[in-house]
Amino acid sequence: MNKITNHLPTAELQALDAAHHMHPFTAGAELAKKGARVITAANGVTLTDSDGNQMLDAMAGLWCVNIGYGRKELANVAAAQMEQLPYYNTFFQTTHVPAIALSAKLAELAPAHINNVFYAGSGSEANDTNIRMVRHYWAAKGKPTKTTIISRKNAYHGSTIGGASLGGMSGMHAQGGLPIPGIAYIDQPNWYAEGGDLSPEDFGLERARQLELKIAELGEDNVAAFIAEPVQGAGGVIVPPATYWPEIQRICDAHDILLIADEVICGFGRTGNWFGSQTYDIRPDIMTIAKGLSSGYAPIGGSLISDEIADVVNNAGDFNHGYTYNGHPVSAAVALENLRILQEEKIIETACETTMPYLAEKWHALADHPLIGETNIVGMMGSIVMTPDKSARAPFKSDAGTVGFICREFCFENGLVMRHVGDRMIISPPLVLTTSDVDVLIERAVKSLDQTLAKATADGLMVAG
Ligand SMILES: *Cc1c(COP(=O)(O)O)cnc(C)c1O
Repeated sequence: MNKITNHLPTAELQALDAAHHMHPFTAGAELAKKGARVITAANGVTLTDSDGNQMLDAMAGLWCVNIGYGRKELANVAAAQMEQLPYYNTFFQTTHVPAIALSAKLAELAPAHINNVFYAGSGSEANDTNIRMVRHYWAAKGKPTKTTIISRKNAYHGSTIGGASLGGMSGMHAQGGLPIPGIAYIDQPNWYAEGGDLSPEDFGLERARQLELKIAELGEDNVAAFIAEPVQGAGGVIVPPATYWPEIQRICDAHDILLIADEVICGFGRTGNWFGSQTYDIRPDIMTIAKGLSSGYAPIGGSLISDEIADVVNNAGDFNHGYTYNGHPVSAAVALENLRILQEEKIIETACETTMPYLAEKWHALADHPLIGETNIVGMMGSIVMTPDKSARAPFKSDAGTVGFICREFCFENGLVMRHVGDRMIISPPLVLTTSDVDVLIERAVKSLDQTLAKATADGLMVAG
């Protein structure tokens, strides 16, 4: 048996990692010099590394371990499914029980007008599906010129060529010849950084109305869809002003533009409802799902498709698109068990009644810290913005992310996994976080912020730019 080398000393693991493993979104040579942190085990909300250090994982892995680590039920379901039927495809007029059961469950959980799912292996793949699906839909409806998809700057929709093109991350577009043609971008509803003198309400309307202006500029007959995350995640947990989504919905309805809600992070309880679309009262035509769908225990994603779109696409001959692992039986069985646990243990309801309000109160209290300019939280996803000058909502003069990186390193040292996006610190903990976990999280966050402030002051970084 090829045993995983957990028993090796950390330095040897790091050396092998540096020699052979290329990491995503990482400067490889830089990491190789210091060595990657080796995570060896996890339980509940706690990670253990190869030196035996324990950390509270306030990111739920990558926003995905919604039910927490260590649920044996999922391991058992995966093992049983591997023995029964480890793989079969759904291409040639075949199907299998896990895909059937998961599809029916997703139709039950999704909004009433959404009863269909097209699977993928990940969120990125699902968004690639969406590009082809919406264009194919309009062509089948006799409107082949409706092809352009409007997205937002600083949105994240994945890392495939399609997903990264839909996304509005300039650093990603700068590499590999992106974006593909046929995607247009409007500005993000990031009031703190871009709202100027406008009230958040007026700013939310202004940013939403950019969609209407963009549709007018491109011509309604050329626009297929608008895609957005209900709350931008990887962009820094940017919570839109309350005026934003109702206006976006009005504009999509008025101009016959499909609305794709990318629920990869917001779905499966993250915002306090099954879907972020429910939290913001959005009526999407397509919802992208992944991450919390399986709580990350197995890779799976998909597109939840409205009855209207499914009806047109299903009656338009072959849809020439698919992935070998569409609805993979092991992943589907794991996802189904994850949804059973979320539902039967009332994890979302319990979080809404207990941890979410408690976390919101403690999180907003961080605004009193001298380094914090703004706090945002929705359900179990939050951000704090660090600033050298609170009253001016000023960014640092140093490169974006300089202070954020310092803070993240202190967090790790203090046993807290909190991520930085530029100089915003963000959390997205497992939904099973308890109120006493919140106390630990906040205590470690405050300690890290204090240390960051001291170091930023000593290094001369507390300067507005
Ligand atoms: C993570 C993410 C994706 C991409 O999902 P992968 O499984 O990493 O391909 C797409 N959209 C959003 C909103 C995400 O957060």
